[in-house]
Amino acid sequence: PTPLVAIVGRPNVGKSTLFNRLAGERISIVEDKPGITRDRIYSSAEWLDHKFRMIDTGGIEVGEEDEIVLRIREQAELALAEADVIIFLVDGQDGVTPQDQQVAQLLYRTRKPVILAVNKLDNPKMLQSVYDFYELGFGEPFGISSAHGVGLGDLLEEVFKHF
Ligand code: GDP
Ligand code: MG
Repeated sequence: PTPLVAIVGRPNVGKSTLFNRLAGERISIVEDKPGITRDRIYSSAEWLDHKFRMIDTGGIEVGEEDEIVLRIREQAELALAEADVIIFLVDGQDGVTPQDQQVAQLLYRTRKPVILAVNKLDNPKMLQSVYDFYELGFGEPFGISSAHGVGLGDLLEEVFKHF
């Protein structure tokens, strides 16, 4: 079967933007602010000669802080169960947040490969901030800009090592 890649992270880090960029079409809904309920969305994708499938773990609702955390956990756990490789996406402009730490806690428990991608690094100067994310404990963070399509080749090359 075609390998499945799950994109996991707190709301608003750019999961759907990355998903759409890799899918090459606007399948997933991108919102300027979190708060839209969505189901997980699947797409097939191809990069160079590699075929894979993706899950965009959307479906985060606005609510109490606890509610949000609960939803992230639910979505992430479903994705973890199914995925072959996990992309843990964070926002390089925000730095490490408590919600990133919550997602990290979930991901420590999986035996599946987790690749940390630091999004929204839209220009080379911003790449410096990847270093802040080593503290999440997933090894080398990959700096990307989903909006501008920067760094995606290197990220996917790392993903494909685990297929
Ligand atoms: P999700 O909640 O994780 O699915 O995040 P979305 O994909 O909906 O994106 C949330 C916001 O971040 C939107 O306003 C996007 O346009 C913006 N965004 C996503 N990727 C990038 C990026 O690489 N650079 C910048 N500057 N903004 C981005
Ligand atoms: Mg989304």
